[in-house]
Amino acid sequence: MDAETVTPPSTATTAAVVRIGHFVAGRRVEGRSGREADVFNPATGAVSGRVALASAGEVDAAVASAKAAFPAWSDTPPVRRARVMFKFKELLETQRDQLAAIITREHGKVFEDAKGEVARGIDVVEFATGIPHLMKGEYSDQVSTGIDQFSLRQPLGVCAGITPFNFPAMVPMWMYPVAIACGNTFVLKPSEKDPSAAVKLAELLREAGLPDGVFNVVHGGRETAEAILDHPGIEAVSFVGSTPVAKAVYRRGTAALKRVLALGGAKNHVIVMPDADPEMAAGGVLAAMSGCTGQRCMAASVMVAVSATDHIVERLAAQARTMVVGRDVGPVITPQAKERIERAIAEAEQAGAKVLVDGRNAVVPGREGGFWVGPTVIDQVRPEMRIAQEEVFGPVLAIVRTRDLDEALAVENASPYGNAASIFTESGGLARRTMEQASAGMIGVNVGVPVPREPFSFGGWNESKFGVGDITGRGSIEFWTKSKKMTTKWNKEAGVNWMS
Ligand code: NAD
Repeated sequence: MDAETVTPPSTATTAAVVRIGHFVAGRRVEGRSGREADVFNPATGAVSGRVALASAGEVDAAVASAKAAFPAWSDTPPVRRARVMFKFKELLETQRDQLAAIITREHGKVFEDAKGEVARGIDVVEFATGIPHLMKGEYSDQVSTGIDQFSLRQPLGVCAGITPFNFPAMVPMWMYPVAIACGNTFVLKPSEKDPSAAVKLAELLREAGLPDGVFNVVHGGRETAEAILDHPGIEAVSFVGSTPVAKAVYRRGTAALKRVLALGGAKNHVIVMPDADPEMAAGGVLAAMSGCTGQRCMAASVMVAVSATDHIVERLAAQARTMVVGRDVGPVITPQAKERIERAIAEAEQAGAKVLVDGRNAVVPGREGGFWVGPTVIDQVRPEMRIAQEEVFGPVLAIVRTRDLDEALAVENASPYGNAASIFTESGGLARRTMEQASAGMIGVNVGVPVPREPFSFGGWNESKFGVGDITGRGSIEFWTKSKKMTTKWNKEAGVNWMS
């Protein structure tokens, strides 16, 4: 979301700064472009690393490595590819804490959130272990006189992923475990803001028995991503990030005649009815707005409080005040993100909204340089205010008041985004209406973060997704493969006919 950072070494650089290079053809390689960017520890504000930014030539080398690995890997029986995934899953489980520590260091999210992220990534790997069954085709005899028909799925070739900073392990794992299990080879460009988890995961895949070149990591920002989108050797690109970039990526990738799926940003609405269980509603909405410091595409961003819900708003605000910044909520990713979020809060206040819980100017003793923003609850927000319309991507909840569910649904429907929406209620009828009428791809009932779990698939609507299908679950098998349909005839005695 922030502008691409291509900087000379920061003055805040400390002695512990590590250099983060690419992973190509089964090993770590140093960057050769001469371009690097700072990687921060958001909890202290110190620079912890310098990440290499790949040139188009370095992207080409990664694609060449993936291309060379494709014939043998795509020819490997799915059951053997699945065995690599089983081993990868085992390694992920034993190294979950180490991975979570890497995520916490560069992303900032609290350790429990980081462990949760790895667990959700493991779910996808587990799904990918079922590839012998998932890739199986269909068969029908006698579709016509003497004619039998069958279909199968084949991998595409070299595929790529471009991913955001907010889930540096899980979002890439929405993509490559399935793509690779399908027999493709892969080039990942993770976010340049927290690049280390991707390299660690590449090493674990290698340890799991993945042949060299099947999975490659190149770091960089816009320029590297564009080299991927333009590369003629890449068949398909999966993207996750903000909506303006998702649009640009979708346009550029499809203009280069690639298969592209681009997931964008979000502005998720949670409708709270007066009959909702107060504990479930207040706790659920608070967890959904503050988890991962609000830096997730499934974060509750607008709470639509219907009619007599003051008791739930008060409970939520009281709970938010007890949260300890630095323990229960991590920092945001960059100083620019902190500034942007605090500006959005100030602007809402100036527009007449009432800040019930104020997370601005949060300080964590001993880590004063960190990019902290505490949980913030803003009441009396009107739907036309910017805070109700734009993605804030921080631990900020805007509360819009409405008289009834119709008005609440109208507020939700007016958002150009469409990732998720939820309702908290005890009424099956009201829940059902919301499930039918909310304009979003993922709906929760008494669930603040309605992430579908495998084999159901993850994906929003409207400006939250460009392209066909979903990114995980059954949709992912379709995205990472092409189907072939065979029509066969072996009985001469049936005579020549045209599919009669
Ligand atoms: P971002 O759009 O700034 O960056 C995403 C990726 O695109 C990064 O790898 C970045 O290097 C690259 N990039 C940046 N500018 C580019 C350009 N002009 N052309 C090509 N590539 C470019 O997003 P971010 O700030 O890293 O992540 C936060 C955003 O991601 C939020 O909007 C969030 O809602 C969204 N997100 C969406 C989902 C989803 O499932 N819909 C999931 C996670 C995050």
